[in-house]
Amino acid sequence: MNLILLGAPGAGKGTQAEVICNALKIPTISTGNMLRAAVKDGTEYGLKAKAAMDAGDLVSDDIVIGILKDRIAQDDCKGGFILDGFPRTVPQAEALDTMGVRIDKVVEIHVADETIQRRLSGRRVCEGCGNSYHIDFKPTKVEGICDACGAKTVIRKDDEPATVIDRLKTYHEKTAPLKDYYAKQGKLVTVEGQEEVAETSKLTLKAIEG
Ligand code: ADP
Ligand code: ZN
Repeated sequence: MNLILLGAPGAGKGTQAEVICNALKIPTISTGNMLRAAVKDGTEYGLKAKAAMDAGDLVSDDIVIGILKDRIAQDDCKGGFILDGFPRTVPQAEALDTMGVRIDKVVEIHVADETIQRRLSGRRVCEGCGNSYHIDFKPTKVEGICDACGAKTVIRKDDEPATVIDRLKTYHEKTAPLKDYYAKQGKLVTVEGQEEVAETSKLTLKAIEG
């Protein structure tokens, strides 16, 4: 099954991607994680992407479409995949169609903007492996230390409150139109994000089964 997860920053796409990944045994492709890794490694496109990411803007379509194309061509994607954070613009969705990538379902995780602002302020990410945590909802066992790899967890630069407002604005302007795009193709299912992650996960699994 080829799936897209759609939703505002902080709606919990990454967490739900993990749930689907475990249930269906298909890999998650997170363009955000790939871009952050590129920034950390100082690759050419990492350098280009960094300024946009820090400002809460989108990285240019050329760059993300390029990295997505390379990733999706790898063997582990043959049996299906979950796209987390791609597409984020109508041209990116059109690029998938042009590449001939079949999409079975698009799951939108819907969460109100106010809730998102609260959530992102508590989010922490691991400097080492990129795992994501939350000081209230998904704390690390030892404060400030990643459960998975033992590296330090930090606040992502783009999770600063002022940047979050910009990211939400970008989402509504550039990404939300994709709901229409995929609704017209009959592929959109919406899941209401719940307070409890486990509750949202149940709804997500139901949405992809149904
Ligand atoms: P979130 O969903 O929490 O905003 P991501 O980790 O998916 O976080 O993305 C972080 C940043 O990486 C985005 O704000 C954007 O700058 C960049 N990015 C990720 N995916 C894309 C994409 N498909 N198109 C453009 N920019 C992207
Ligand atoms: Zn880690």
